[in-house]
Amino acid sequence: MTQSAAAPAGTVTVRVPAKVNVQLSVGGLRPDGFHGLANVFLAVGLHDSVSATRADSPRLTVSGPDAALVPQDRTNLAARAARLLAQRHGIEPDVHLHIAKDIPVAGGMAGGSADAAGALLACDRLWGLNTPYEELLALCGELGSDVPFSLAGGAALGQGRGEVLTPLEVGGTFHWVFAVAEGGLSTPDVYRECDRLREAEGTGSSVTDVPEPAADEALLAALRAGDAQALAAALHNDLQPAALSLRPSLRETLAAGREAGALAALVSGSGPTCAFLTADADSAARTAHTLTASGTCRTARATTAPAPGATVV
Ligand code: ATP
Repeated sequence: MTQSAAAPAGTVTVRVPAKVNVQLSVGGLRPDGFHGLANVFLAVGLHDSVSATRADSPRLTVSGPDAALVPQDRTNLAARAARLLAQRHGIEPDVHLHIAKDIPVAGGMAGGSADAAGALLACDRLWGLNTPYEELLALCGELGSDVPFSLAGGAALGQGRGEVLTPLEVGGTFHWVFAVAEGGLSTPDVYRECDRLREAEGTGSSVTDVPEPAADEALLAALRAGDAQALAAALHNDLQPAALSLRPSLRETLAAGREAGALAALVSGSGPTCAFLTADADSAARTAHTLTASGTCRTARATTAPAPGATVV
């Protein structure tokens, strides 16, 4: 393990990626309140960094332009991750966690999950626990459905609530643009709207009404081949109608990206971030520039995927 030159002695910093769901198929509402999912995650090159430093009592700080939107109390997912790990090992969660936040908050890119995975790994190394990877993954699953993928990175199929992961092969680099919206959307609200729309359409929203979701083989083949055109044709998000219903202005963002030359546009996860798959780095840079100038989003950022999972830096 190496440490960055600027870090105080005894600090462990972990870099952890955001994600986009290239397929998000939502099954019916289960009796336990969750939806069955077929969820194809792709880690992308927008990152938070979580630093863990020894302290006399638990402390959490956040920096970055959207720091004020992040809870800085016990409810923060990073603080919860540190407490869970400490509790499992019978030690005190005395650590100063600092989150350098760059992933949009409540943006459908799993920023909170990223911080939880980052905090878990950073504390594990700081406290010298060296928990086996499979055990860390299981702890991630206790913290939230998207947290195991934030630890793993790359690409993976998530089943169950999304937390049962199968790693996927990716045969090339994909070029993406993310249009960051003003304000967030609550993930539970978007799932509720998805159920409401299904009821209103007369299809029903329970497990007996909605077919069990399954991974799209054409999409998995496009990922394996590193084929952006084929991936663009297969992108799919069942939460998109619900996100658009709650935030109709996102239609304009999606249209602006398509007009700028993106191969495909979709809402990222539960939104409101919009994701655009482009043919190459030049096209991504042009699309990001045009989107930012369009006034249909707060800012747009070009990046690549897949990105590695949580990594000690
Ligand atoms: P997902 O894509 O996993 O549904 P998201 O990206 O839409 O999530 P997050 O950025 O994870 O949303 O934030 C969702 C909510 O979680 C926030 O509004 C905030 O109240 C809470 N939260 C708790 N911890 C964090 C954290 N470390 N960073 C951001 N939000 C956090």
